[in-house]
Amino acid sequence: MSHSPASSGLINARGTFTPLGVSRSSAAIAHATANALSEFHKISDLQITLESALQKWSGAEAGFATHCTAASITLAVAACLTSTDQEAIASLPHYDGAHRKVLIPAGHCVNYGQSILQAIRLSGAKPYIVGSEHSYSLQDLEEALKADGIAALLLVSSRLTKGDAIDFNAAVALAHSYSVPVILDAAAQDFRVRELVETDADLILISAQKYMAAPTTGLIVGKASHIAAVKAQEAGIGRAMKASKEALMGALAALEERLSLDLSAWKAEQSEKAHHFVTSANEIKGITAWAEPDSTGLPFDRPCLKVDSDLYGCSATELADRLRNSSPYIWVIDHLAEQSLLLFELVPLKQEECKAILDRLAVSQRD
Ligand SMILES: *Cc1c(COP(=O)(O)O)cnc(C)c1O
Repeated sequence: MSHSPASSGLINARGTFTPLGVSRSSAAIAHATANALSEFHKISDLQITLESALQKWSGAEAGFATHCTAASITLAVAACLTSTDQEAIASLPHYDGAHRKVLIPAGHCVNYGQSILQAIRLSGAKPYIVGSEHSYSLQDLEEALKADGIAALLLVSSRLTKGDAIDFNAAVALAHSYSVPVILDAAAQDFRVRELVETDADLILISAQKYMAAPTTGLIVGKASHIAAVKAQEAGIGRAMKASKEALMGALAALEERLSLDLSAWKAEQSEKAHHFVTSANEIKGITAWAEPDSTGLPFDRPCLKVDSDLYGCSATELADRLRNSSPYIWVIDHLAEQSLLLFELVPLKQEECKAILDRLAVSQRD
């Protein structure tokens, strides 16, 4: 038996990070997923049941599931190119219709392991980049919307975006005034789904395997006509991006769990976990810790640790390496390590795993 608290020997404090397996499902979700494997299911019926759950959860008109959000991006863009035209769908990714440009702000050209620009291009569309990495305004957007051949506006709601945040409500209204549909990549924003539906965006894309902890599934909610056009892609490029029966059954169980979640109790639990971690981390020489709110408005804080390399004995970058390279393997959010900052996402972690991280932080100092 291993002495590490996670049976895999890996503690993921890096968030819903795909290369580490994203999230941990509850027993009920794991059970629903596993059970589906030994049964036959009519996939179209599962999609209908899932759609009702998605409507109830999000307040949107319609819903559908794909393999994952990367797939949803490609298929949502394809839907904006072809609508439900079978011939056009069958010809993708070759597309010679008049409207094939997809507007995306420069600061939203994220890379989640794949460049979002490639996910757009896979459909046959052509990305059309607006503004600079640091900023773009509604005026920049309006100029671009006036160009010929705009099929859709794609906006990303994520920690990964750069530059000033734009008001999505205003951006959606502007695009609609030019009859351009809006796709919102909100992969990790499931907690904010109702607020995002209220922006009036046409298609909102969410990963069921992130904070909802389902098996890998791309959830799409939005306008009925656009959802119908996404669904129609299953007879074309969407074949390689379909949701499986086990994903659909797992996602249904995850939606049920989310619908019955006591959010205020959940928030209180997360807040208590983060604050306890911050208090203990502050007792370690060379570390200053505080609770940092999520920049996109997710309902939890992450402990942020500032490492004073002289007092602590190594830099934040070296500390992240040490944590990652000896058992239990601890992965943290280290994109700000050059500014001496490390972030810890504790949401899926058990108390003993938080303690194991704190123990290692104290030991690494003495190394
Ligand atoms: C995770 C993520 C994706 C990719 O989602 P998958 O479901 O893993 O394909 C796309 N966009 C953003 C902003 C993400 O955070």
